[in-house]
Amino acid sequence: MDKDQIIIIGGGIIGLATANALLDRGEKVLVLEKNSDTATAASFANAGMLTPSQSTPWNSPSDIFYILSGIGKKDSPMSLSPRAIPSYFSWGLRFILNSTPSRFERISKSIFSLAKYSKDLTEKIRKSEEFCYEESTEGTLKLFRNTERLQKAIDLSNRIYGESNSIEVLNQKQTVELEPSLNKVRKGLVGAIHYKDDEIGDAYKFCKSLEESIRNKGGRILVNTNIKRILLNKRKVNSVVTDRAVLRAKRVIVCAGSWSPILLKELGIKIPVKPVKGYSLTYNTAGLENTPNLSVIDESIHIAITPYKNRIRVAGTAEFVGFNDEVHPKRITYLNSKLNEVYPSLFSKVQGDEDTQVWFGFRPMSADGLPFIGETKIEGLYLNTGHGHLGWTLAMGSANLLADQMTNAETEIDSKPYLANR
Ligand SMILES: Cc1cc2nc3c(=O)[nH]c(=O)nc-3n(C[C@H](O)[C@H](O)[C@H](O)COP(=O)(O)OP(=O)(O)OC[C@H]3O[C@@H](n4cnc5c(N)ncnc54)[C@H](O)[C@@H]3O)c2cc1C
Repeated sequence: MDKDQIIIIGGGIIGLATANALLDRGEKVLVLEKNSDTATAASFANAGMLTPSQSTPWNSPSDIFYILSGIGKKDSPMSLSPRAIPSYFSWGLRFILNSTPSRFERISKSIFSLAKYSKDLTEKIRKSEEFCYEESTEGTLKLFRNTERLQKAIDLSNRIYGESNSIEVLNQKQTVELEPSLNKVRKGLVGAIHYKDDEIGDAYKFCKSLEESIRNKGGRILVNTNIKRILLNKRKVNSVVTDRAVLRAKRVIVCAGSWSPILLKELGIKIPVKPVKGYSLTYNTAGLENTPNLSVIDESIHIAITPYKNRIRVAGTAEFVGFNDEVHPKRITYLNSKLNEVYPSLFSKVQGDEDTQVWFGFRPMSADGLPFIGETKIEGLYLNTGHGHLGWTLAMGSANLLADQMTNAETEIDSKPYLANR
């Protein structure tokens, strides 16, 4: 066992991106994943959007209102199970404390800076290593059903992102010209914002391209390997204990998504990251005509709809229910009804199809909305986790930021807002 190789715990989008960035800097890596395949947790069937345009954390005052109003309800876009309240209590307090207007703006700017950096790196690897993941670079479209909300979104975008995020505000007619599939619901829309710099793709396919790249560069990935503990010697990382063996390592990176706090707790490191469950439904659209081209976010109903070549995916909902892995029928009904609200003609063709893929994942949500990237107070122990609702958008940037820190290179963006020991 090579003690110099870096052990990465977790084979989701963050772990794989981190492995790849370190290999590019000449390091040796071993990725350990407890599931039988990589990218089968939160990175599997997410909404597939690379959206620097949505760099706001979820603790804006209006979202907090949504969460509180959804307590106990299964049919609101956000819900908090009364039974889960104790486990979210201290995290929730921090979440609320970070929702002041000044913190909200500062945090949004920091997320945006990482998201822009990340998007450029995603484009770079797509071109240089010929990644194919059903990507589209035509931007995303955010729909509005209320003029006041549209104006607020324009103001927010101008204030936080400035000119570095290219947007076009569309009236009802222009919205339908850009996405003709919205024609049937045009009357309910007041307009839209076209975020031209956003991209979409299939995150699982992107992960598989990353995996191939890692193996080609000499990196190793072991699946079916559950990390039980990280062992220290004199406050320095010494080894990891898996369900198969003890592996020596001087440097370990925790990229275990929502499960990261569990591994860190017994080392005395507490990070405020909690699972926030979301669902997606992926419908088969092969052979159907006039399917949508652009990925849309419907602002009023909190869902995203992303078209692929022969599929369309509707994703959303946020449940604060711990690691509850039940598939709740009301959530499926909710997402089906939302597809119907945006694309009724398409919905009438795909509804009831037994091939529709139902999925849920746990977003690793930090209390301030920022990921944890960097070395902890324990020598040799690093974090890259807590990317919440934007893990794919932030993956390549976070990975390269950490890899630069670990190889003592100058980072390309300021690393302070995301420090692991903040
Ligand atoms: C419904 C939904 C829609 C979303 N849409 C988008 C979107 O459009 N754009 C976007 O940017 N983001 C989106 N996200 C968020 C994004 O999917 C996540 O932020 C991202 O996948 C997190 O990646 P990760 O690698 O940190 O975690 P994960 O993908 O969960 O990976 C963590 C891995 O660690 C493994 N692991 C955990 N503990 C151990 C252990 N002890 N030993 C070994 N392995 C372990 C797990 O098995 C898992 O594979 C969405 C999320 C959801 C749920």
